[in-house]
Amino acid sequence: MKIVIAGCGVAGFTAAKKLKELEPQTEITLIDREGYGLYSRMRLPESLAGTLPETKLILSSPEATASLGIQLVSGVTALSFDPGARTLQLSDGRSLAYDKLILALGADASLPQIEGAEPSMTFRTLGDLHHFLSEVRTAQTATVIGGGLLGLENAHALHERGIRVSIVEFMPRLLPKQLTEKESELLQEKFLEAGYQLCLGRKTLAIHSDQGVSSVELDDGTVLRSDLVVISAGIRPVTQLAKDAGAAVDRGILVNTRFETSLQDVYAIGDCAQIGGVTYGLWIAAKDQAIALAEILANRRSSFESPVYQPSLKIPGIKLNEIRMAAQNK
Ligand SMILES: Cc1cc2nc3c(=O)[nH]c(=O)nc-3n(C[C@H](O)[C@H](O)[C@H](O)COP(=O)(O)OP(=O)(O)OC[C@H]3O[C@@H](n4cnc5c(N)ncnc54)[C@H](O)[C@@H]3O)c2cc1C
Repeated sequence: MKIVIAGCGVAGFTAAKKLKELEPQTEITLIDREGYGLYSRMRLPESLAGTLPETKLILSSPEATASLGIQLVSGVTALSFDPGARTLQLSDGRSLAYDKLILALGADASLPQIEGAEPSMTFRTLGDLHHFLSEVRTAQTATVIGGGLLGLENAHALHERGIRVSIVEFMPRLLPKQLTEKESELLQEKFLEAGYQLCLGRKTLAIHSDQGVSSVELDDGTVLRSDLVVISAGIRPVTQLAKDAGAAVDRGILVNTRFETSLQDVYAIGDCAQIGGVTYGLWIAAKDQAIALAEILANRRSSFESPVYQPSLKIPGIKLNEIRMAAQNK
C-alpha cells in the first residue's frame, strides 16, 4: 500500500507517523513544501517576541522524520493530482503514484481587500518569522490589523520587543467571538494599561508604504505611522488543489466523518478540511484528525466525532478564564 501525504504541518506529519506506527509495512511519502520538517506554527509569536529560540520551534527535523521510515520529499509543491490515474504531480517534475492520497495542506493567512495590503504583511510561516525578525530590530512603531486571538498574540510579541503597538479591530471590541462585552472591556483595560493603542470599530482603508515606513489610514481619518504592519485577519483553508481535481469544496475541502472527500481514496485533514460544516483552524484539532484518520485507514476505528475545542490566548499574565470570572464578580 502506497500512501502519499501532501503537507507537512501537524496534520500531515502526525498522520504519517501514526500510520507508520500502526502499519509499518505501508509505504508513506510526505511532501514537505517548506523543507523544515515539522515545526510549531502556533509558537511562532514566541520566537517573534524573542522568548523562544528558533531552534526550539522544530519538533521533528527532516532527518528525524526520515528516521521514522517516512519518505520525505522536501522543498517541493504538490501541483495537481489525477484521481482517475491516482497520481500526484510535483513541482520538480515528478509524478507519484498512490493508493491513497491525504491532503493536509493547511491554510493561508487571509489578505483582506485593503489598498496596499501585501502578503509579506501576514505572519504564518517560519519564512514569515525570518522576514519580521529582520525588521523588529529597528522598528519603533507597529500596527497590527485584527484584534482576534492571533492578532493579539502578534501584538504582544512586538510589544515584548519594546515596539509601540496599535491594534486595529473592525468590530467595536477585542475578541468578540470569545468574550462578552463586559469581558472584552476588562481585556481592553489590560492592553491599554500596558501601553497599547486600541483603534476599535475602525476599518482600515489603505496602507501607504514609503521607504520602509507605512501609514495605515483608518475610516475615521486616523493615520497610524508604522515601521511595521502585521495583518492578522483570519485564515483561508487551502482548497484549490482539491477543487481542480474535482473534489467538493466549500470554505474547506468537504469530508465526512471518515475524512473521505468526494473523490475516491482521497482524504483531507487539518486546517484545509471542513467537517460537519466546520473548519477548525486549531493545532489540536488537526492532530486529533490525523490520528483518527491513521486509525481509520488501519481499521482500528470506523469514524471520528470532533470534540468541542476551547481556543486560548497565549499571552503571559492574561488568562481568558480569569477575565470571565472577574467579569462575573464585577
Ligand atoms: C501564529 C499562529 C499561532 C497559532 N496559535 C494557535 C494556538 O494557540 N492554538 C491552536 O490550536 N492553534 C493555533 N494556531 C493554528 C495552528 O497552528 C493550525 O491550526 C495548525 O498548524 C494546522 O495544521 P495543518 O497541518 O492542518 O496545517 P499547516 O500547519 O498550515 O500545514 C500545512 C502545510 O502544507 C503545506 N502546503 C500547502 N500547500 C501545499 C502544496 N500544494 N504542496 C505541498 N505542501 C503544501 C504548507 O506549506 C504547510 O507547510 C496558530 C497559527 C498561527 C499561524
